[in-house]
Order: sequence, then C-alpha cells, then structure tokens
Amino acid sequence: MKTLNKLLIGIIVVIGVMISILYISTYEVENRLQNNLNRMFLSHVDAVAHHIERFIKKYCKENLYTELKSNPQLRDYLQDALELTTAPPHKFVYILYRDKHGHFRYLLDGSLEDKGEFNQKLDVNSKIWNRAYKSKQALYFSHQDSDILYITYLYPIVLHGSVQGIIAIDFTNELPSTISTIISPLKKVFAYLFFAIFLLLALLAYQGWLYLHTKKSALTDPLTGAYNRNYLHKFLYEINPQEYAILMLDIDHFKKINDNYGHKAGDFVLKNVYKTLHSILRNHDLIFRYGGEEFIIFIKRNGKEENIIQIAERIRTTFYTTAFIYEEHSLKVTVSIGIILHPEKFKSIKDAIKKADEFLYEAKRTGRNKICYNTDYTLTKTKTTREVDIIKDAIDNRRLFIELQPIYDINSMQPVRYEVLVRLKDREGNVIYPGAFLENIAYTTLYNSLTKEVLRQTFDTIQTYKVPLSINLNFSDITDNVVYEMILQEIEKNRELANFLVIELLENEALPTYEEHEDLKKRLQKLKEYGIKIAIDDFGSGYSNFEIFKYLPIDILKIDGTLIKEIEKSKVSYLMVKSITSFAQAINIKVVAEFIENEKILQTVSRLNIQYGQGFYLGKPSKHLQ
Ligand code: GH3
Ligand code: MG
Ligand code: MG
Repeated sequence: MKTLNKLLIGIIVVIGVMISILYISTYEVENRLQNNLNRMFLSHVDAVAHHIERFIKKYCKENLYTELKSNPQLRDYLQDALELTTAPPHKFVYILYRDKHGHFRYLLDGSLEDKGEFNQKLDVNSKIWNRAYKSKQALYFSHQDSDILYITYLYPIVLHGSVQGIIAIDFTNELPSTISTIISPLKKVFAYLFFAIFLLLALLAYQGWLYLHTKKSALTDPLTGAYNRNYLHKFLYEINPQEYAILMLDIDHFKKINDNYGHKAGDFVLKNVYKTLHSILRNHDLIFRYGGEEFIIFIKRNGKEENIIQIAERIRTTFYTTAFIYEEHSLKVTVSIGIILHPEKFKSIKDAIKKADEFLYEAKRTGRNKICYNTDYTLTKTKTTREVDIIKDAIDNRRLFIELQPIYDINSMQPVRYEVLVRLKDREGNVIYPGAFLENIAYTTLYNSLTKEVLRQTFDTIQTYKVPLSINLNFSDITDNVVYEMILQEIEKNRELANFLVIELLENEALPTYEEHEDLKKRLQKLKEYGIKIAIDDFGSGYSNFEIFKYLPIDILKIDGTLIKEIEKSKVSYLMVKSITSFAQAINIKVVAEFIENEKILQTVSRLNIQYGQGFYLGKPSKHLQ
C-alpha cells in the first residue's frame, strides 16, 4: 500500500513536471514566433523606408524643408509616391520634421484621407522622435490603437550629416495575435492541467500529513508525548533484546501531587517528567508511558553495564535535585527505578519487563528514590506475562472493582461487617477472581497498584455508607512502605475511617527475622492506636503458628474455611476448630468462621460459641450492601 502510494505520487510528479515543461515551451514558442515575425516585418518596413528615402533624396539634395516649401509640385509628386506605399499592412506613411521650437510638423503625408497639410503641427511622442533625431538611427515603438496593436517605424533622413526629417510608417502585424489565438487554448489546457496536478499534489501532501499525524497520535500518549503501550507492544516484537537495557521508572508518591495541588498539577508534573527524561536520554533511547505515572525506558546498550547504571543514576539525581514550578508552587518529585541490564537472558522480553517491575517494587519497598537491579535473573514466579498484561490493562482502565461479603453476628443474625473482595474485568467483560491473578503479580509494582486501588475503593465505601469493612493484606504490605504509608496517609486525612476498618492478615509467608517481627509489631500497634482492628486470616492452614498471638496485637481470628467446610464430616477438623476457638476465647480474641455453606454448619459453629460467621449460606459477595 505504501509503495503503491509512493509510485502514484512519483507518477503524478513526473506528469506535473512534463506539463510544466510543455506549458513553458508553448510560451517560448509563441514568443520566438512573434519575435521572428516582428523581425521579418521590420526588415520589410525598413526596406520600404529606405526606398522612400532614396526616392526623396533624388529630388531634394540640399535642404528638405526649404526645397519642399518652395516647390508645391514636387510636394504633390512625392506625396503621390508615398500614397503608393500606404497599403496594408501599412496604415500611415508620412514624413515630419522638427522646427526650431522642437515641434514636429508635416513635410509630406501619404494618407489617403484627412491628409496632414505641409507644415501642419502633429502631436507625437516627442521623446522617441527626438531620440531618432539625435541617434540618426531607425527605431520603432508599438502602441495600441483601439483593439489593434500598431508599430511605428521611424527612419531618419540624413542630408549632409544632419537629420532633416523622419519617415514614419505605422503598420500592424496581425500574425502574432493570430498565433496567440491559435496557441491560447493550448495554453489554457496546460494551465488547467497544471492547476489540477497542483491541487492533486496538495491533496496528496495533506493526506500524507494526516496519515503521519494519525499514525503518530496512535503511537503516542496525548498528555506527555511519550510512546504509548500500543506502540510498546509493537516495539517488543521488533527489537533485538541484546541491544537494549530496560528501565522501569515510577514517580514516588505521585498521588500526593494530585491530592495537594490538583489533577492539573499532576498532569503538569507528568509532562515535565517526560520532558526531563527526554532531555537526559539520547535519540535512540525510547520512552514509553507504561501506566499512570510509570514509564518504561529502553536504553540502547553500547558498552559497559556501568554506563546504563550511570544513566539511571543521572535520571534519579536529576529529579531529586530539581523542582518543577507550577503556578506559584515548587513541585518536587523523586523516582524509583528497576533495571534489567540483559533482557536477552530472559525467555521473553515480557519476562524481562516483569523482572524490571520486580526490581522497581523492591526500590519502592525499601524506601523509594532508589535504583534496584542485580544480575540474578530468576523470576520470582514464572507465570505467563500475558496475564500480567491483562491485569495491568484492567487496573489502568478502571476495570477493578470490589465486592462485599457480609460477616454475621451469629447470635443476633445481623451483619456486623463486610469483607472486601477484589475483582477484575477483562476487555470482554468477564469477571476474574483473585485466585487467578494475585499470584501472578506478587512482588511487582502491579501488586502495589492493585492493593492501593482496593484500599481507595474501600475507604470510599466506608465514607459513603459508614459501614465497617475488612480488607485482606499480607504481612509484607505492612512491613513494606508502600501500602502501609497509604493507609496512614488516608486515616490521617480522615481519622474516623480507622474505626470502620479491619485488616485481615494472611499468614502466607513466614517472617524470618526478629527485626521484621519487631517492625511488624510496631506498625500494627500504630494502626491499632488509630482504631483499626487486626484479624489473622485463614488460621488453621499454612504456617498457623500459635506463637503469632504472643507478639502480634491481634483482635480477631478467622478460622480457615476448609476446616469449617469439613466440620460435619471430619472429626479432626471439628476438634481443631473447637480447640482454636477455646484458645482464642481464652485470650480474648474474637472468632470468625468462614465458609458457612448450610444450616447444619451454622448450627455446629453456633454450638461451639463462635461469635461471627461468613459464607454463602449467610450472604454471597455482592457489589451492593445486603
Ligand atoms: P508510589 O510511590 O508507591 O508509586 O506512590 P504513588 O502515589 O506514586 O502511586 P499510586 O499508584 O498510589 O498513585 C498513582 C496516582 O497517579 C493515582 C492516579 O490517580 C494518578 N494518575 C494516573 N494517571 C494520571 C494522569 O494522567 N494524570 C494525573 N494527574 N494523575 C494520574
Ligand atoms: Mg508512583
Ligand atoms: Mg504507580
């Protein structure tokens, strides 16, 4: 298609050039013809004038004026001779002289009618006539008489070295205008063709511009001008991973800019972040806007690994040391960066991107304004990256939503709280459940984004409905800075929220070091001071370490659903539930039984004095409060 267009444009240009040449040639031909004809005519007229001069000089040998004045017969005779030459194309043939006042007067007139009298004054263009007098050379000039173009040929009669009169022959030359009439339709056709070609080219140029423009806007992000994700997908297929290093960059605490200065300020910062990146990087490096305030950069490798790290370091320090001035505010941002120096070591470039994101997550987790990389390239989870893409797409396009499942007080049979459950929708509108995606995105910034979005929607729901909600977090969400800080930030903004919030901690990972225990404990304590309650989730599965109650300030214990489900059939399960419950109650911790699927389970649970219950029998997760 593209080559066809080029060919078409080429053909049109060639035709256009040919027509222009033809058009110019017709002009030249016309001019040359006219010049040649004029020259022919002039030489003919010159010959006539020459004959007249010779004829007159036969009779007047001394002084033209005095001899003609004194001899009327001679005048008549010569005038008759002049009349003979007055035939088409000659219109007038006459002879004038210049008197001492500089006026031109008739000596002889060969006109057939309205003859000028001898000595009668005639108004002529004296400038030209004087020139003929002075130069003693024949000359001609043209002038318009009604529609017809006339040429006047002036031929000085020189006697004894001085001009004594000028033979004037007025003649028309209709041939050139005839030629013009013949040629002009041709010229018109060429002019129209030329114009049409010009229009066509202009149209094609406009179309070309439009094509490039739409192509560009399809590939770039309208806000920053960086390449967009559509282009990233194309680009990933085209590149050789050996040629690039991958930098994943995310602005730290960007939300604060939006919150404190408004969305416009946020947009302003995003644009300037891109500009800054653009100014630091070279032309063959590519910058893509990967998500809201996340950029992915492909840096062309030439040489050592240190160079890439230096570039990343330059990026980090540039942001750290500069501020963007927005209205009267000076906005400062820092960035965190995850780097993959050798994308070719991965199964696919998408895996390399995922690893870069893991490093970015690491940079965030450990304090931000940091660069993280290493040369150990084992992926934490080797799940397909296509799924990661789907999740990212859903989060970026606001297709993440929460559902609420009621938790009942088993005595009063009233809902006391709701558990927040996250869902995604894919492009086709299919709902995806956390089991299918959470694992894929663990240890990536995507996990952070997802958790933060869930928190946002949770806080919004609390604010709107003033209903207690519980959310699921991991221990690492509390020990890492990202999520923990967001929670603090939100409840600092609105203290009331804390009283409505329960954090259900999933004990899905061991906390190996003493420092980590201490840190976790401190942070949970702090959350509790605000009024947040802490629950331990799925107890009875996984690690289920009773020791946890020794050092963590826990308010609620949720017994693992699989135990509850089997409570009727399995004696062991029943006994486990029973002992966990009595243990919890002994240390004053409330108990929730999950997966209550039928009346029978509810009754057993109730008999065991478990206070709270949750399950399909009591209420399914729903977008709306029940
Ligand atoms: P972190 O340091 O953990 O990255 O914190 P953060 O606040 O930068 O990250 P978070 O993901 O919590 O917030 C990103 C925010 O960026 C949320 C979203 O509203 C905002 N955002 C996304 N796209 C745009 C945009 O185009 N313009 C503006 N102004 N804000 C955007
Ligand atoms: Mg950020
Ligand atoms: Mg982000």
